[in-house]
Amino acid sequence: MQNVCMNLKSTKTDADGGMSKEDCLEATSKLAEKVGKLQELLFATGDTPLLIVLQGRDTSGKDGTIRHLLTFMNAQSTRVEPFKVPTPIELSRDFLWRVHSKVPGKGETVIFNRSHYEDVLVVRVHDLVPEKTWRKRYDHINNFEQLLMDSGAIILKFMLHISKEEQEQRLLEREQDASKSWKLSVGDWKERQFWDDYTAAYEDVLSECSTESAPWHVVPSDDKWYRNYVITKAIYEAMKPHEDRWTTKLKELGTTMTAELEEFRNTLEKA
Ligand code: ATP
Repeated sequence: MQNVCMNLKSTKTDADGGMSKEDCLEATSKLAEKVGKLQELLFATGDTPLLIVLQGRDTSGKDGTIRHLLTFMNAQSTRVEPFKVPTPIELSRDFLWRVHSKVPGKGETVIFNRSHYEDVLVVRVHDLVPEKTWRKRYDHINNFEQLLMDSGAIILKFMLHISKEEQEQRLLEREQDASKSWKLSVGDWKERQFWDDYTAAYEDVLSECSTESAPWHVVPSDDKWYRNYVITKAIYEAMKPHEDRWTTKLKELGTTMTAELEEFRNTLEKA
């Protein structure tokens, strides 16, 4: 367990890694192409499940990130799973029940729009269950993610980090821009009043559930182009070490299939 001590208030939301917007967009598009190729390999070998978890406050850009990822990810093997307020059926089970049924199979990529972490975030902030219940969930989550990784999964967890000022601007933009006004929600303004409670809840998530093999990435997200760059790069870096294994497996599969085809043709000739 990697116990990260995280102070979100002093973590930048508007970092740009010293890059200009133009350079960043170019670098992102190169990385996206590479991720696309690696994801093709992952799909073809049917070897590894890839889980991408997106968390963040309202307007932090979860939807925009998904739009970006879907511009270069393989549509056949990619699924987006949103987690909303649990239904009565979901609430009558353990909190991971609805999550476990949505995880990727081998060769699949699944993007979680919100996730099991809501059960230690919104649930904690609004006292939806007693503290002794949500406190135990960090261990449950770590064990659950370890189970997925023991079954071969790659897990990437991104916290989209925006400033309070940026959130206000984005909420106001929704009022001013008719094309965005369908997204208006009184709930978003209400949740904003709990900003500091969410900060504390996120800090505990980051320190309790950042494991060596499934660390949290806190992504400066005030600038969408930098957010997309950081996320695309992290996905590339997590997939790249598997490339040789996937390539070898694909070659082996090709050899087996070719041999099977030859054998079939031989039987045809003999018949
Ligand atoms: P956007 O961020 O783009 O506005 P959204 O992710 O907020 O979209 P909504 O359908 O508006 O989508 O919100 C989903 C709501 O479900 C969020 O308020 C979230 O906190 C809540 N939610 C998700 N999981 C749980 C949970 N386990 N318990 C209680 N509420 C939950």
